[in-house]
Amino acid sequence: MVQVKAIKAFSDNYIWCLTTDNSNQAWVVDPGQAQPVLAYLAEHELTLGGILITHHHYDHTDGVAALVGAYPNISVYGPANSPFKGITHSLTDGQSISVLNINFTILATPGHTLDHICYTNDELAFTGDTLFSGGCGRLFEGTPKEMWESFNKLRELPASCSVYCTHEYTQANLAFAKAVEPRNPELLAYSKKVNELRSNNQISLPTSIGQELKINPFMRSDLPTITELVPGKFISVTKNNEPWGNFASLRQFKDNF
Ligand code: ZN
Ligand code: FE
Repeated sequence: MVQVKAIKAFSDNYIWCLTTDNSNQAWVVDPGQAQPVLAYLAEHELTLGGILITHHHYDHTDGVAALVGAYPNISVYGPANSPFKGITHSLTDGQSISVLNINFTILATPGHTLDHICYTNDELAFTGDTLFSGGCGRLFEGTPKEMWESFNKLRELPASCSVYCTHEYTQANLAFAKAVEPRNPELLAYSKKVNELRSNNQISLPTSIGQELKINPFMRSDLPTITELVPGKFISVTKNNEPWGNFASLRQFKDNF
Protein backbone atom coordinates (compact mmCIF):
# COMPACT_ATOMS: atom_id res chain seq x y z
CA MET A 1 0.00 0.00 0.00
CA VAL A 2 1.26 3.44 -0.96
CA GLN A 3 0.72 6.36 1.40
CA VAL A 4 0.97 9.97 0.30
CA LYS A 5 1.19 12.61 3.03
CA ALA A 6 1.43 16.38 2.79
CA ILE A 7 4.36 18.20 4.38
CA LYS A 8 3.55 21.90 4.54
CA ALA A 9 6.09 24.43 3.29
CA PHE A 10 6.13 28.20 2.69
CA SER A 11 2.61 29.63 2.99
CA ASP A 12 0.69 27.33 0.65
CA ASN A 13 3.03 24.64 -0.71
CA TYR A 14 2.69 20.91 -0.09
CA ILE A 15 5.74 18.67 -0.32
CA TRP A 16 4.18 15.26 -0.99
CA CYS A 17 5.82 12.39 0.89
CA LEU A 18 5.48 8.84 -0.48
CA THR A 19 5.92 5.79 1.70
CA THR A 20 4.93 2.13 1.48
CA ASP A 21 3.88 -0.31 4.20
CA ASN A 22 6.97 -2.48 4.19
CA SER A 23 9.76 0.10 4.15
CA ASN A 24 10.99 3.02 6.24
CA GLN A 25 12.08 4.79 3.09
CA ALA A 26 10.30 7.95 1.95
CA TRP A 27 10.46 9.88 -1.29
CA VAL A 28 9.43 13.52 -1.53
CA VAL A 29 8.08 15.57 -4.41
CA ASP A 30 9.24 19.17 -4.97
CA PRO A 31 10.98 20.00 -1.69
CA GLY A 32 11.14 23.79 -1.86
CA GLN A 33 12.34 23.74 1.76
CA ALA A 34 14.47 21.09 3.51
CA GLN A 35 13.67 21.79 7.16
CA PRO A 36 10.00 20.68 7.15
CA VAL A 37 11.03 17.47 5.34
CA LEU A 38 13.84 16.70 7.81
CA ALA A 39 11.48 17.31 10.73
CA TYR A 40 8.80 15.06 9.21
CA LEU A 41 11.30 12.25 8.52
CA ALA A 42 12.64 12.42 12.07
CA GLU A 43 9.17 12.47 13.61
CA HIS A 44 8.08 9.41 11.60
CA GLU A 45 11.42 7.55 11.80
CA LEU A 46 11.81 7.54 8.04
CA THR A 47 14.89 7.81 5.87
CA LEU A 48 14.94 9.71 2.59
CA GLY A 49 15.19 7.49 -0.50
CA GLY A 50 15.04 10.14 -3.16
CA ILE A 51 13.43 13.23 -4.63
CA LEU A 52 11.10 13.88 -7.55
CA ILE A 53 11.18 17.34 -9.15
CA THR A 54 8.43 18.64 -11.46
CA HIS A 55 10.07 21.92 -12.57
CA HIS A 56 12.85 24.34 -11.76
CA HIS A 57 11.06 27.02 -9.68
CA TYR A 58 12.70 27.78 -6.31
CA ASP A 59 9.60 26.83 -4.30
CA HIS A 60 9.96 23.30 -5.73
CA THR A 61 13.75 22.89 -5.63
CA ASP A 62 15.42 25.09 -2.98
CA GLY A 63 15.43 22.31 -0.37
CA VAL A 64 17.20 19.78 -2.59
CA ALA A 65 20.81 20.72 -1.74
CA ALA A 66 20.29 20.48 2.03
CA LEU A 67 18.41 17.17 1.69
CA VAL A 68 21.20 15.70 -0.44
CA GLY A 69 23.62 17.02 2.19
CA ALA A 70 21.71 15.14 4.90
CA TYR A 71 21.19 12.00 2.80
CA PRO A 72 24.21 11.75 0.45
CA ASN A 73 23.90 9.78 -2.78
CA ILE A 74 20.11 9.87 -2.96
CA SER A 75 18.57 10.07 -6.43
CA VAL A 76 17.07 13.34 -7.64
CA TYR A 77 14.74 12.74 -10.58
CA GLY A 78 13.73 15.70 -12.72
CA PRO A 79 13.23 16.98 -16.24
CA ALA A 80 16.12 16.50 -18.68
CA ASN A 81 15.64 20.03 -20.05
CA SER A 82 15.60 21.72 -16.63
CA PRO A 83 17.73 24.74 -15.79
CA PHE A 84 17.85 23.35 -12.22
CA LYS A 85 21.31 21.86 -11.73
CA GLY A 86 20.71 19.33 -8.93
CA ILE A 87 19.14 16.52 -10.98
CA THR A 88 20.91 13.13 -10.99
CA HIS A 89 18.35 11.23 -13.14
CA SER A 90 17.12 13.14 -16.20
CA LEU A 91 13.62 12.32 -17.43
CA THR A 92 11.86 12.82 -20.75
CA ASP A 93 8.28 12.45 -21.99
CA GLY A 94 6.92 8.91 -21.94
CA GLN A 95 9.73 7.47 -19.83
CA SER A 96 8.89 4.98 -17.04
CA ILE A 97 10.48 4.99 -13.61
CA SER A 98 10.01 2.84 -10.52
CA VAL A 99 10.11 4.44 -7.08
CA LEU A 100 9.39 2.34 -3.96
CA ASN A 101 8.18 -0.33 -6.43
CA ILE A 102 5.61 2.15 -7.76
CA ASN A 103 5.77 2.67 -11.52
CA PHE A 104 5.32 6.17 -12.88
CA THR A 105 5.07 7.34 -16.46
CA ILE A 106 6.60 10.74 -17.07
CA LEU A 107 4.44 13.22 -18.95
CA ALA A 108 6.13 16.31 -20.33
CA THR A 109 3.68 19.13 -19.55
CA PRO A 110 5.19 22.42 -20.75
CA GLY A 111 3.22 25.61 -20.17
CA HIS A 112 3.84 26.92 -16.63
CA THR A 113 7.54 26.37 -17.40
CA LEU A 114 9.12 24.68 -20.40
CA ASP A 115 10.73 21.96 -18.25
CA HIS A 116 7.57 20.95 -16.37
CA ILE A 117 6.87 17.21 -16.05
CA CYS A 118 4.19 15.22 -14.19
CA TYR A 119 4.68 11.83 -12.52
CA THR A 120 1.64 9.67 -13.29
CA ASN A 121 0.10 6.23 -13.13
CA ASP A 122 -3.51 5.04 -13.07
CA GLU A 123 -3.86 5.80 -9.34
CA LEU A 124 -1.63 8.81 -8.65
CA ALA A 125 -0.56 11.94 -10.45
CA PHE A 126 1.91 14.52 -9.13
CA THR A 127 1.04 17.54 -11.23
CA GLY A 128 3.26 20.25 -9.69
CA ASP A 129 2.14 23.66 -10.94
CA THR A 130 0.43 22.37 -14.11
CA LEU A 131 -2.98 21.14 -12.94
CA PHE A 132 -4.34 22.62 -9.69
CA SER A 133 -7.71 21.81 -8.21
CA GLY A 134 -10.04 24.20 -10.01
CA GLY A 135 -7.23 25.86 -11.93
CA CYS A 136 -3.92 25.72 -13.73
CA GLY A 137 -0.49 27.26 -13.36
CA ARG A 138 0.34 30.62 -14.86
CA LEU A 139 2.02 30.56 -18.25
CA PHE A 140 5.47 31.89 -17.33
CA GLU A 141 7.37 30.20 -20.16
CA GLY A 142 5.01 28.26 -22.42
CA THR A 143 2.15 29.16 -24.75
CA PRO A 144 -1.58 28.47 -24.25
CA LYS A 145 -1.29 25.86 -27.00
CA GLU A 146 1.47 24.02 -25.11
CA MET A 147 -0.47 24.13 -21.84
CA TRP A 148 -3.65 22.91 -23.51
CA GLU A 149 -1.76 19.99 -25.02
CA SER A 150 -0.31 19.27 -21.56
CA PHE A 151 -3.82 19.33 -20.10
CA ASN A 152 -4.99 16.91 -22.77
CA LYS A 153 -2.39 14.39 -21.62
CA LEU A 154 -3.71 14.68 -18.05
CA ARG A 155 -7.34 14.44 -19.21
CA GLU A 156 -6.56 10.96 -20.55
CA LEU A 157 -5.71 9.60 -17.09
CA PRO A 158 -8.46 7.52 -15.42
CA ALA A 159 -11.21 9.55 -13.73
CA SER A 160 -10.37 7.84 -10.43
CA CYS A 161 -6.70 8.92 -10.56
CA SER A 162 -5.81 11.03 -7.50
CA VAL A 163 -4.23 14.39 -8.30
CA TYR A 164 -1.56 15.80 -5.98
CA CYS A 165 -0.64 19.34 -7.00
CA THR A 166 1.85 21.54 -5.17
CA HIS A 167 -0.27 24.46 -3.97
CA GLU A 168 -3.32 25.06 -1.78
CA TYR A 169 -4.90 27.40 -4.33
CA THR A 170 -8.24 25.59 -4.46
CA GLN A 171 -10.51 28.22 -2.88
CA ALA A 172 -9.16 31.07 -5.00
CA ASN A 173 -9.39 28.89 -8.10
CA LEU A 174 -13.00 27.97 -7.35
CA ALA A 175 -13.95 31.65 -6.97
CA PHE A 176 -12.78 32.06 -10.56
CA ALA A 177 -14.40 28.81 -11.70
CA LYS A 178 -17.75 30.04 -10.33
CA ALA A 179 -17.38 33.28 -12.30
CA VAL A 180 -17.00 31.15 -15.43
CA GLU A 181 -19.71 28.58 -14.66
CA PRO A 182 -22.02 30.10 -12.03
CA ARG A 183 -24.64 27.40 -12.48
CA ASN A 184 -22.49 24.26 -12.58
CA PRO A 185 -24.06 22.17 -9.75
CA GLU A 186 -20.99 19.95 -9.32
CA LEU A 187 -18.83 23.04 -8.94
CA LEU A 188 -21.14 24.62 -6.36
CA ALA A 189 -21.21 21.40 -4.30
CA TYR A 190 -17.42 21.00 -4.51
CA SER A 191 -16.85 24.62 -3.52
CA LYS A 192 -19.03 24.14 -0.45
CA LYS A 193 -17.09 21.02 0.52
CA VAL A 194 -13.73 22.78 0.05
CA ASN A 195 -14.88 25.77 2.14
CA GLU A 196 -15.80 23.38 4.95
CA LEU A 197 -12.43 21.64 4.79
CA ARG A 198 -10.52 24.91 4.77
CA SER A 199 -12.52 26.44 7.61
CA ASN A 200 -11.54 23.35 9.66
CA ASN A 201 -7.92 23.95 8.64
CA GLN A 202 -7.88 20.76 6.55
CA ILE A 203 -6.20 20.51 3.16
CA SER A 204 -8.34 20.39 0.02
CA LEU A 205 -6.18 17.79 -1.74
CA PRO A 206 -5.85 15.38 -3.36
CA THR A 207 -8.45 15.95 -6.01
CA SER A 208 -9.06 13.53 -8.90
CA ILE A 209 -9.06 13.71 -12.68
CA GLY A 210 -12.80 12.94 -12.72
CA GLN A 211 -13.54 15.72 -10.23
CA GLU A 212 -11.47 18.23 -12.21
CA LEU A 213 -13.24 17.28 -15.45
CA LYS A 214 -16.49 18.28 -13.72
CA ILE A 215 -15.40 21.55 -12.10
CA ASN A 216 -12.11 22.93 -13.47
CA PRO A 217 -12.76 25.45 -16.27
CA PHE A 218 -9.34 24.79 -17.77
CA MET A 219 -10.08 21.05 -18.00
CA ARG A 220 -13.45 21.99 -19.55
CA SER A 221 -12.37 24.78 -21.84
CA ASP A 222 -13.29 22.88 -25.01
CA LEU A 223 -16.96 22.75 -23.95
CA PRO A 224 -18.95 25.25 -26.02
CA THR A 225 -20.95 26.31 -22.96
CA ILE A 226 -17.88 27.78 -21.28
CA THR A 227 -17.68 30.86 -23.49
CA GLU A 228 -21.41 31.53 -23.42
CA LEU A 229 -21.34 31.64 -19.65
CA VAL A 230 -19.10 34.67 -19.43
CA PRO A 231 -20.92 37.23 -21.55
CA GLY A 232 -18.97 40.39 -22.12
CA LYS A 233 -16.11 39.43 -19.82
CA PHE A 234 -14.67 36.86 -22.14
CA ILE A 235 -11.82 38.12 -24.28
CA SER A 236 -11.42 36.08 -27.40
CA VAL A 237 -7.75 35.90 -28.22
CA THR A 238 -8.21 33.58 -31.14
CA LYS A 239 -9.99 34.38 -34.37
CA ASN A 240 -9.96 31.05 -36.11
CA ASN A 241 -11.20 28.50 -33.59
CA GLU A 242 -7.98 26.74 -32.71
CA PRO A 243 -8.78 24.01 -30.20
CA TRP A 244 -6.81 25.88 -27.51
CA GLY A 245 -8.58 29.19 -28.16
CA ASN A 246 -10.95 28.92 -25.22
CA PHE A 247 -8.11 27.83 -22.99
CA ALA A 248 -6.07 30.90 -23.98
CA SER A 249 -9.04 33.18 -23.31
CA LEU A 250 -9.73 31.61 -19.94
CA ARG A 251 -6.12 31.90 -18.87
CA GLN A 252 -6.11 35.58 -19.85
CA PHE A 253 -9.40 36.12 -17.98
CA LYS A 254 -7.91 34.46 -14.88
CA ASP A 255 -4.71 36.52 -15.06
CA ASN A 256 -6.84 39.64 -14.69
CA PHE A 257 -9.45 38.22 -12.31
ZN1 ZN B 1 6.12 26.96 -10.32
FE1 FE C 1 5.02 26.62 -7.32
